Amino acid sequence: MANDEMTNGKRQTVSPQPKFSNEERLEGIGICPGIAIGTAFLVDDPRGRIIRVRLRESDVEKEIVRFRQAVEMAQQQLDAVYQRLRAALGEDQAYILEAHVLMLQDQSIGRQIEQFIRDNRANAEWAVREVSNRLLKVYAEITDEYMRARSSDLEDVSNRVITILSGTQPRSFTDFSEDAILVADDLLPSVAAEMNTERIHGFATNAGGWTSHTAIIARSLNIPAVAGLRRITSRIRSGETMIIDGHAGLVILRPAPDTLRFYLEQRTAEQQQAVYDLEERELPAITSDGQRVALRANIELTDEIEVVQRFNAAGIGLFRSEFLYAKAESGLPTEDEQYEVYKLLAETSGHEGAVIRTFDLGGDKLHLNGFKPERNPALGLRAIRLSFKVEEVFRTQLRAILRAAVYGKLKIVLPMISNLDELRHAKRTITELAQELHAKNIAHVANIEVGVMIEVPAAVLLAEYLAREADFFSLGTNDLTQYLIAVDRANEEVNHLFDSLHPGVLRAIKMVAEAAHQAKIPVTVCGEMASHPAEVIVLLGLGLCDLSMTPSAIPMIKRIIRGIDMQTAEQIARQALIFTTPAEVNNYIHKEMAKHWAHHSVATPDN
Ligand code: PEP
Ligand code: MG
Repeated sequence: MANDEMTNGKRQTVSPQPKFSNEERLEGIGICPGIAIGTAFLVDDPRGRIIRVRLRESDVEKEIVRFRQAVEMAQQQLDAVYQRLRAALGEDQAYILEAHVLMLQDQSIGRQIEQFIRDNRANAEWAVREVSNRLLKVYAEITDEYMRARSSDLEDVSNRVITILSGTQPRSFTDFSEDAILVADDLLPSVAAEMNTERIHGFATNAGGWTSHTAIIARSLNIPAVAGLRRITSRIRSGETMIIDGHAGLVILRPAPDTLRFYLEQRTAEQQQAVYDLEERELPAITSDGQRVALRANIELTDEIEVVQRFNAAGIGLFRSEFLYAKAESGLPTEDEQYEVYKLLAETSGHEGAVIRTFDLGGDKLHLNGFKPERNPALGLRAIRLSFKVEEVFRTQLRAILRAAVYGKLKIVLPMISNLDELRHAKRTITELAQELHAKNIAHVANIEVGVMIEVPAAVLLAEYLAREADFFSLGTNDLTQYLIAVDRANEEVNHLFDSLHPGVLRAIKMVAEAAHQAKIPVTVCGEMASHPAEVIVLLGLGLCDLSMTPSAIPMIKRIIRGIDMQTAEQIARQALIFTTPAEVNNYIHKEMAKHWAHHSVATPDN
C-alpha cells in the first residue's frame, strides 16, 4: 500500500520496502519532481577507464615516444584554446591556461612519468595517472591556497594527456541508450544543459541541492532528479535498473518486482496529471476573491519557449542568459548570435515580454573560459562585478539586447547588485551604447526598462533607494536565502539549513515588497520560492502577486492560487512573521495548508 504524506508542500509518495531482495534505497534531495524508471549510466572520468598494460622490454622506448607525442599534442590543443581566449577576453583572463601549458612543459614531471614507464614497463596512460595521482596527494596535504589551486591544473592537464593517449574523446553527453538515468558525482550546469533529454529520463548525483544551478536546469528540462545522495556512484553499476522518485528525493536501486509495479502505476498517474494540466491552461491565475496573479516563466535555453507557451505563461520573467556562454568550446557568443536569441525571445513572449538577465557568470555557476579559481567564489568575481571587469563582453551583450528590443517587449535585469553605484554605472553604459547605436543609425530601443535583482542582503537594506532608480525589482530568493543565512545553496552538507521560510528571509522579503510598493515599481519573485506551494501562499500574503518559475510548475501554482483568497493569504503571512524560528514557521504553514486542502494532496489541490 502506498503511503502518502505531506512534507514541505511537496508530495511524498513512498512504496513499502520489500524484505527479501537486492533492492537498495538512498535518500537525497528531490531537485525535480517526477518518477523515472530506467537503466543506470555512470558518467565516468577518463582516469577511471585506464587499464594497466605490461609492456615488452623492446616496446618501452616506443611508449616513451608515444607519451612525448601526446604531450606535444596536448600543448598544441592548449595553445589554440589560449589564443582564442586571449583574443576574446584579454591576457589576464587567459592566463590560467598558461599555468596548464607550463605544467606540460615541466621537465621534472615529464621525467618522472618516463621513469615510471621504464621502471614498471607500464603503458603511458597508466604512468601519467600514477605519477599525477601521487603528486595530487602531495598537493592535497599542502595548506597553501595557491599550491592547492595548482592541483586542479595538474588534474586537468593530466586528464587531457590521458584522453589523447587512450585515443578517446571525452564522453559525449548527448549519446546514451534509450532509457538512461545518469549517475554522477556532480553534474556541471553546462553538462546538464547539453543533455539529450529524449534519452535521459532522470539523473542522480552525490553532490548538489535544491537551488543549485544543476537543479534549476533539471527542472527546466523537466527531468526527474535527486541530488545530494553522497554515495550513489559507489552503490550502482551501469546497466542496472533504477528508479528516481523526484517527489520524495528517493532513489531505488535494483527494484524488487513489487516496487517496480508500484512506480509504474505512479508514473501512469503522473502522465494523466500532465493531461489535466494542459486542459487547465486557459484558466486564469486568479484568487477566489479576484486578485490576478502573474505567472511567468524562468528559462535558460531557447528550446524552452515551446514549454512556456504550452503552460500559457505570462511571458518570460527571467531569462538566465549565462547559459548562452555555456558552450565554452565555441568561445563567446557574438553580438549577432545573441541578437538572434533575444529577437526570438522578443517575438515569442507576447505582450508580457521577456526579462533578460545580463550574464550571471562566476560563483557556483558557469565560468568564462580561463577563469581564475577563487578562494570564496560565492563572494567573488561573479555577475555584475565580472561584467564590469570584462566590459567589452558586457557591452556586446547589452548592444544585442537593445537591438533585439525593437521586435517586442524586452527588459534588462542586472544580477547581484549590491549598491547604487553599480546600478548607475550599468545604466550609464546602456545610455552610451544607445547613443552609439543611434549615431550609427542602427535600429534599437533607447529607453529600455532596467531592473535590479534583489538577491544580496545589502540590496534589501538599500531597497528604498534602489527602487527610486530602478524600473523594477526581480526578487532572487535563491541567492538572497543563501547570503542571508550564509548557507551554500549547492552544498549537500548544509542543505538542510537552506530555507526560504526562515524568519530572517521572510522579514527581508517583506522589506523589499514594501520598498517596491512605496516607490510604485513592479516586483517579480523569480527565485525557486515562486514554485513552492507553501512559500507562494506567504508571498501572496505579503502582496507579491507577480511570480516567475520553471514553466512546468505553473499548473500546480495556478491551482494553489485559484484555491485561496487574499484575506487568508494575508492572515497566514502575518502570522508567519510573528514566529522566530524556521521550524515554527514551517510547521504553522504546513498545518494551514493541510487545513485548507484537507481532502487533497497539497501539490495538487483541486478546486
Ligand atoms: C535567485 O538567486 O533567486 C535567482 C533567481 O537567480 P539564480 O537562481 O540564477 O541565481
Ligand atoms: Mg541569483
